Formats: sequence, C-alpha cells, structure tokens
Amino acid sequence: MSVTVRVPAKVNVQLAVGAARPDGFHDLANVFLAVGLYDEVTATASPDGPRVTCAGPDAGQVPLDGTNLAVRAALALAERHGRSPDVHLHIAKDIPVAGGMAGGSADGAAALVACDALWGTNASREELLGICAELGSDVPFSLVGGAALGTGRGELLRPLEVGGTFHWVFATAHRGLSTPAVFREFDRLGEGTRIPEPVASQDLIDALAKGDADALAAAVSNDLQPAALSLFPELAGALAAGRAAGALAALVSGSGPTTAFLARDAETAARIADDLRATATCRTARTATGPVPGATVVSGAP
Ligand code: ATP
Repeated sequence: MSVTVRVPAKVNVQLAVGAARPDGFHDLANVFLAVGLYDEVTATASPDGPRVTCAGPDAGQVPLDGTNLAVRAALALAERHGRSPDVHLHIAKDIPVAGGMAGGSADGAAALVACDALWGTNASREELLGICAELGSDVPFSLVGGAALGTGRGELLRPLEVGGTFHWVFATAHRGLSTPAVFREFDRLGEGTRIPEPVASQDLIDALAKGDADALAAAVSNDLQPAALSLFPELAGALAAGRAAGALAALVSGSGPTTAFLARDAETAARIADDLRATATCRTARTATGPVPGATVVSGAP
C-alpha cells in the first residue's frame, strides 16, 4: 500500500531578522504564505527502509541519505511509536532546491503525514507539529499551510486570515544559495550596527486579511535580501526585470535565490513570467497563487 501527500512551497511576505542569539539562531518575525508550487511524497511499505528516491528537474541536488528531511521525518515518527521505519519515500520534486522556498522542509512535513497515514500511527496534530519543529524552523508551516506568522526561530506559528487570492511569479536562479551562508552574511553586514527586535508588520497582516494586493505590495519586506544580493549580485537584475514587467512588488524569497513578484491578477502574472523568461536574468519563471493548504493526503488514505 502507498500514501501520497502533496505539499506546497512558501514565500515569506515579511522576514524580519533579529541579531544572532548566543546559540547562533536568530529571532524572526516571519510571515509565511503557502503558494501553489508542489512536491509530492509517496510512502510505500518496504522492508529495507527507510529509503528515499527523487525525480524532477532538480533531483540531482537532493541528498538521498539520512540527511534528507523526508527520511529524518520518517525516522522520528517511527522512533516515537516504537516501530521500524520500513518505508520507501519517493519525492516528485517540483519546488526549486536550495531556492528559499522551503522545499526540503515541505518534504519533511509531507513524509510525516504520509508515514502517519501508511502506518496508522494516528499522531495528533500537536505531536506532528512537535516533530516538525524538531526537524527545522520552516517545517511546521509546511504542515499547516495557508498563511501564518512565525516567531522564535520561525517555528512558533499563529495562523493568519487571508481575504483573497494573491497572484505570484517565481523566478528561479541558475544556482542555489545556502541558508546558513545567507544568515552569516546578514551577521557580517550588520556588524557594529544595532539590529532592532523583529516585529511583524500590522499593515502587512491587515493587507493579507483584506486580500488587498496593492497594500500587500507596499508592506512586503525581507531583511535577508541585502545579504542574498551581496552573495548573489545578479539577483538585482531579476528584481529589476520583474518590476519593469509590471510587478507590484519584487523581493527575494526567504534566503533566496528565488525571486518573487506580486502581480495584480492572473493575466499580469502570466505576462510578467513571459517577460522574465525572455531575459537572461533567471533560469525559468513560474506563476502560482496563494494561500493554499499545507501537506494533504491526495491518494491512498486508509
Ligand atoms: P529554506 O527556504 O527552508 O531555507 P531552501 O528552499 O532554500 O530552504 P531546500 O530546497 O530546502 O532549500 O534545500 C536546502 C538543502 O537541504 C539542500 O541543499 C539539501 O542539501 C538539503 N535537503 C535535505 N532534504 C531535502 C529534500 N527533501 N529536498 C531538498 N533538499 C533537501
């Protein structure tokens, strides 16, 4: 028997970053929006598990050992429930890898939901969220989807109301960026300056609640953007190309290097994506809407 779970990517519409804490992590005010670019994780009973395979354009960049977040999720659930992790996980990967869209986190959340259904462990939502938080700061949001404010390292989530659908374009880059390297660059750029406490923007939360794209465009922000641009200066070209094509807002997605463009409607988004593809500033450009639900069983539920 198999269970397949579909899980979305995310864009951070606000990413406010505090100073490095003594443990090296940063406090964040992180407003996540789940968007319709998806990975699918299929869990199949397999006596030689846990095993993981991956297919998709970026599959070659995905680790297939115990560091894969899908494998770590399966092991964590099996250990808590005292059972063997006899599962084959197959990832159909469509979320850009190392793109700042939480693809690995998405696979972790999806594998957890898939194994829970396959094994009949019936973990509570709280237990699943607890395992997600242990796996990584972005993993709980991949489970819940929609829109949410993450505080702490980003893992303490408060769901946010969204009053409409937002239209986005995502431009992928020719290479990835390491999230820890971007945080190190953030620390380096901030040396000697006072970094304020990260605070969620009420204007941004109100814009989401109203479904108001213009107000959201005025409020989006990403404190990691200067660090991502410092490590990857060519991203400035992609941001400028998207603005020139009519985007209401252009920003680096999370730690980058994917760039995100907010559009007024579906037609404008399609045109911005066409224009971006015609430039040499990105590898490709895709449209997606948000919010969308988090990790969801799409086939094989017992
Ligand atoms: P985030 O937005 O959460 O910072 P990201 O989108 O920039 O993350 P990921 O696609 O999650 O980056 O990949 C980051 C690294 O995680 C990869 O380089 C890879 O080594 C590792 N990784 C572990 N498991 C996975 C997975 N299932 N899919 C992709 N990468 C994975």
